[in-house]
Amino acid sequence: MGRHLLLLGPPGSGKGTQADLLCKALGIPHVSTGVMLRDHVARGTDLGKQAKVIMDAGDLVSDEIVVGMVEERLTEPDAACGFLLDGFPRSRPQAEALDRVAGGAMLDAVVVIEVAEAELVRRALARGRSDDTEETVANRLAVYRSQTEPLIAYYRESGRPVATVDGVGEILEVLSRIVTVLAS
Ligand code: AMP
Repeated sequence: MGRHLLLLGPPGSGKGTQADLLCKALGIPHVSTGVMLRDHVARGTDLGKQAKVIMDAGDLVSDEIVVGMVEERLTEPDAACGFLLDGFPRSRPQAEALDRVAGGAMLDAVVVIEVAEAELVRRALARGRSDDTEETVANRLAVYRSQTEPLIAYYRESGRPVATVDGVGEILEVLSRIVTVLAS
């Protein structure tokens, strides 16, 4: 099983939870731009102040900012033998930027977690994060459909192994589906 992984899926698909479990099981770092950005917000950095407004609206933080963060993160020693990207890339320019750094070219698997729209809305509103108002949730989904979902075709067309997994079910059930597709 390759160790350079990318998890794709709409907001509320359980990506973050599955990413945590997979990274613990595989011993690879969890690279989540959402976690990094929330850390900036919590620390009150200039970047965090700028990003908070955008995140609260459910829009995308600029490609330049997130690409810079990921590029820097992937050069850290613990990412030398593998990593799991969660929440990045979210747009075509981000995917192209990732392909320009060594990590993108060596992606071993792109796993797409699929969950129906109504279930996504129900889950997101139950999470209660500050960026989880009904309007924000709807916008995040629309942004996912227009900017991020097309990356599935981008990766397929460029010959990367793309697998889809049903994201509805118990956490460990979904995890085992992901492990199964990674092993095959
Ligand atoms: P997440 O935790 O992945 O759902 O990310 C939370 C929010 O952070 C998103 O709704 C975006 O506003 C922002 N964000 C996270 N990752 C990215 C990214 N790769 N590109 C742009 N914005 C991002």
